[in-house]
Amino acid sequence: MKKTNHPFRKKWGQNFLADGNLLDRIVRTIDPKKSDSILEIGPGEGALTERIFPYVKEMTAIEIDPILIEHLQNQKSLKRLKVVQGDVLLQEIEDLLIGNPVRVIGNIPYNITSPIIFWLIEQLDFWEDAFIMMQREVAERLSAKVGTKSYGRFTVVVGAYLNMEYCFTIPPDVFIPKPKVDSAIIRFTKKETPIIPDEKYVRFNKLVADAFSQRRKMLRNTLKGWDIPAAIQEKIDFTRRPETLTIEEFASMV
Ligand code: SAM
Repeated sequence: MKKTNHPFRKKWGQNFLADGNLLDRIVRTIDPKKSDSILEIGPGEGALTERIFPYVKEMTAIEIDPILIEHLQNQKSLKRLKVVQGDVLLQEIEDLLIGNPVRVIGNIPYNITSPIIFWLIEQLDFWEDAFIMMQREVAERLSAKVGTKSYGRFTVVVGAYLNMEYCFTIPPDVFIPKPKVDSAIIRFTKKETPIIPDEKYVRFNKLVADAFSQRRKMLRNTLKGWDIPAAIQEKIDFTRRPETLTIEEFASMV
């Protein structure tokens, strides 16, 4: 399945999907439509790209590796694909030559999963939904339900803006080279109304970090230095531990 002869670049998280059935399952999950403008992050050798491109209105792919860019541009079936060379984190969706809001897809390098999620949060107006592949453990943290072991700071700060749906688990053996861990796809959509106004986000982020700094401790200890409105202090029992609080309850404190 590997089509180019260049070495795999670990620094760019290069693990290529090499299983037709799995790729077809991903395509069914994304459910591309004729009217879609698709933005792909890290197309690699184009395994997913070539399965989505024929079904959509337009598609742009951002890839950092110049050897892979050349490979993509040489593929006949991807002739009208717009390829942008560079680091996705330095791109603004609004500036790309593609209609927005886009639908984002990507089997991304796992070492930049969080920066890519925050990159999406910074550009909420320009995308509709996003299917992002990541380490299973990270996907479980993101989609965790309140009160569970995986529910934590990351769940809450991302959950203030995005809804997250765990699509399915992907085993290591469908990749070349094989990663050491399981992967999963998460579908992100935007909260209709963000739970926290932008100007309060920094405070919210800090408060959540403090609350989860010691998971076993009660809020009355971890949030001791915080000036929390009296009405909220009456409503929320501060002997609770952080993982029992909903995102809305955290938001009400700032
Ligand atoms: N989508 C392909 C697949 O599924 O076979 C490749 C996936 S591989 C996990 C990640 C891809 O992202 C690689 O092609 C890598 O070169 C590219 N990449 C790594 N860092 C990037 C960045 N900062 N911006 C854009 N692409 C990046």
